[in-house]
Parts: sequence; C-alpha cells; structure tokens
Amino acid sequence: MSLATSTITDLRQKLTSREITSRDVLEDLARVIEQKNPDLGAYLGWDLEKALAEAESVDLTLPLGGIPIGIKDNINVLGEPCSCGSRMLAGTYRAPYDAGAISNLRKAGVVPFGRLNMDEFAMGSSTENSALALTRNPHDLSRIPGGSSGGSAAAVAGGIAIATLGSDTGGSIRQPAALCGCVGLKPTYGRVSRYGLVAFASSLDQIGPLTKTVADSALLLNSLCGKDERDSTSLSIPVPDFTAALGRDIKGLRIGLPREYFISGIHAGVSAAVNGAVKKLESLGAIPVEISLPHTDLGVSTYYIIAPAEASANLARFDGVRYGHRSAAATDLLEHYMMTREEGFGPEVKRRILLGTYVLSSGYYDAYYLKAQRARTLIRQDFEAAFAAVDIIVSPTSPAPAHKLGELKDNPLAAYLEDVFTIPVNLAGLPAISLPCGSVQAEGASLPVGIQLISKPLDEMTLLRVADALEHALDQTSGPV
Ligand code: GLN
Repeated sequence: MSLATSTITDLRQKLTSREITSRDVLEDLARVIEQKNPDLGAYLGWDLEKALAEAESVDLTLPLGGIPIGIKDNINVLGEPCSCGSRMLAGTYRAPYDAGAISNLRKAGVVPFGRLNMDEFAMGSSTENSALALTRNPHDLSRIPGGSSGGSAAAVAGGIAIATLGSDTGGSIRQPAALCGCVGLKPTYGRVSRYGLVAFASSLDQIGPLTKTVADSALLLNSLCGKDERDSTSLSIPVPDFTAALGRDIKGLRIGLPREYFISGIHAGVSAAVNGAVKKLESLGAIPVEISLPHTDLGVSTYYIIAPAEASANLARFDGVRYGHRSAAATDLLEHYMMTREEGFGPEVKRRILLGTYVLSSGYYDAYYLKAQRARTLIRQDFEAAFAAVDIIVSPTSPAPAHKLGELKDNPLAAYLEDVFTIPVNLAGLPAISLPCGSVQAEGASLPVGIQLISKPLDEMTLLRVADALEHALDQTSGPV
C-alpha cells in the first residue's frame, strides 16, 4: 500500500517515530502520481528534486513537519509555475514569491508538492474549463471531478495526494470535494491570507484545505490561518487550536434545515444520503430545527453579477505587458492588447469578463451591480437571523452527483445553477465544510454525495466539531479509490 493513501495524522505518527522519512513519502508519492496521473489528470506538474531538497532541511518536530501538500495552480509557490489553468500564464510565468498561505504552511513544516489542475482562473464547476489538462473523477473516469479545484479533489480522493489546497469563490473547494468524496473546508472570509492567491473575485475568494478526514482539515487549518499585513482583508484575531473540536459530542446542538434548500429538483439519491446524515446527527443528540433563508433564490443571480464584475477588474492585468502570454502577431498597441487576450483566455473567462464589464458600465451600474450588492446584504441578513436560532446549518453540497464529462459544457447556465447551495455562503462570508455522507449508484459506478455544514462567522470550531462527529458516526472517511 502506498504512503500516498495516508492521512496527515497517520504520516505524522510514522515520521515522528522515524519509521519513515519525508524523502520516503515524497518518492512514494511521485511514484503513484506517475502511475495514476495519466488517467486522473489531477496534476499539471511536480518537481520531485526541488521538494526533496526542501524536505532535507525541514524540522520534523513542527506540527506538519515533512508533510507534502499539493497546491491548486492559482496559489503562488516561489519558483514554481502558477498558470491558473490558463494559456495566459502557462509556460511563461513562474511565481517570484510564496503566497501568505504557503509561508504559513512552510512555517509549520509543510513541503509544497505538485501543481493541481483547475478551471481557468477558477471559473467553473467541472475543471473542464482548464486550458491545460482534462481531470477525471477517480470514482468514474467518464465523469467530472467538479471544480474549480477539481485537480485538488481528484488527487486526494484518488490516493495521489496526502492533502491539497484549493480556493473557493462560490463553492470551488466544497463542490469538487463532494463530487470526488473527500473533505473540503472554506474558512470564514478573512481567516486565510489571500496574498499570492491569483484573484478571481476578491470579496469572495478564500483558500482552504481538501483532505481525507475532518481531523486533517483541522490540522491544516491550524497552520493556514492568521493575519497577514499584505492582505488588508485578513483578520487580526487569535487562531484557536482547531483540533480541540475533534472527538467531542454534539448533544443539544441545534441543526438548522433551511426549507429553501430541501427542494424538489435535487437528485433523489442525494436527498436520501443527506436526509440519512441528518438522522445520524439527531441520533447523536443534535436537535433539528426547520429554518428559512428566504432570499436563497437570489443567490446565483447575485453571484453572477458580483463575481464577474470583480473578475473583469482583476483580470485586466493580463495584458501581455507585465507578464504572461504576449501575442506575436500584433502590429500596434491596440492589436497587442486585443490579440493577447483573445489568444490567452478561454471562452468561459471571456464570457465572465464581458458580463462583468457590462454590469459595471455606466448606465447599468445601478441596475445590476448596486442591486446585486443590496441582494447580497439580504442574503447575509438571512443567515444572521437563522443563526439566532441554530448553531449549524445543513444542506446538500451539490444538488446532483458528478455529471458525465461534456454533459454541461455547452450549457453554462445549467452549470451556474448547480452552485445554488454553495454560493450564498461566499456572499455572506461564512465558513462551511463538505464531507462525504453516502453514495449513489450510476451505471455501475458508486458516486459520492457530500453534505454541507455552515456555521456562524469565525465559528470553524463548531463546524469541525459537528463534521468530525458525523464523519465518525457515518464511518465514511473517504479512503482512496
Ligand atoms: N462554480 C463557480 C464559478 O464558476 C464557483 C467557482 C469558484 O468557487 N472559484 O464561478
């Protein structure tokens, strides 16, 4: 059995007892990646020699000493490519610095290892928008892994990463975690530094861990969080020891079931698995409470104004002047901009830039952008009101299990609608986790189903406490396939 299928917790024990070295882990990992990545397409690249050199000087007594973590391709790691799944950056850009999240992980002894595929600039829910590789679901290679952190989820669930980092703007950690069958956590907005995360929608983006267990999620979160002077939105608040949330009971906790989230249109197998998990929570002593989040139906349309608006501004920097792709065919300055962007960006990125530019343009700003900001406030207030009565809110992570590759490719609107349960969480800046809660059978494959737990701002502790209790009760720790 390969070490790559281990949890962080298991590896730590083996490393500190000197049963294995961090070199063993990296070499083993590289071996299974070479074996399985041609099928899975999770990694865009990896540099074993660099990682081995870094592992040499790692202090094994640190909390994550010697643990290799795979990194989504939109997070800067010094000296490594950071292409955001885009032709705009592939082959031309190497990170000149470490992202804040990476510096924090290094301080804890982590060795970043491997670049993971993603939808171009994190726009998408299937990883099919990557311009660089096709990532497949480890449970059924004819299906999508979800997205945009599809490479990060497929690598963990496919047993070719110990754990990985993703980023989540509207569900991009939680949804692929649900579709691949691993644990994905989006922290409260501001918990983790966004410095060095290539910005998609700055008021929504957040980095978080994808892991095999809830315990591993808590361990990684301990090291990821903290104030970073280089990100003015990162919060200056104490970081608790999140592992203190593990192994506790959940008796008397109130679990909110939003009426608007348990609707028809959800895949029957997904409903059954999520309802089963809710029953488990009840059997552990939690108290179910029906709640209402009345503005849920505004979530997707609000997001698809705000996120493209911010993206259109953030992506203006990719103009062929400072870095990235530069068109060779242009003969004057205007052509230089136009052809560089025409050649460098894929169709979904162009669609978002067009949408964003439109909603921000003079004459439309009030009608779209300002209105979306107001709707965003209503969505946040829905959660505030609900959390007066409950400790945790529960929903399916995604309304359906993994689709076939190509199934929604020409129907962006249908794909956008699938983010209905994850998007409101980003709009409200809340922490949420997805963990496996069962499976549905489809054409001979067993496809994972994820349950989403949402907590109050900064209450990752309760989130992890309930997730850990549920994971153990369900006995669903996502082993590799
Ligand atoms: N699927 C959503 C989108 O396409 C969310 C992406 C994300 O969280 N990065 O924008």
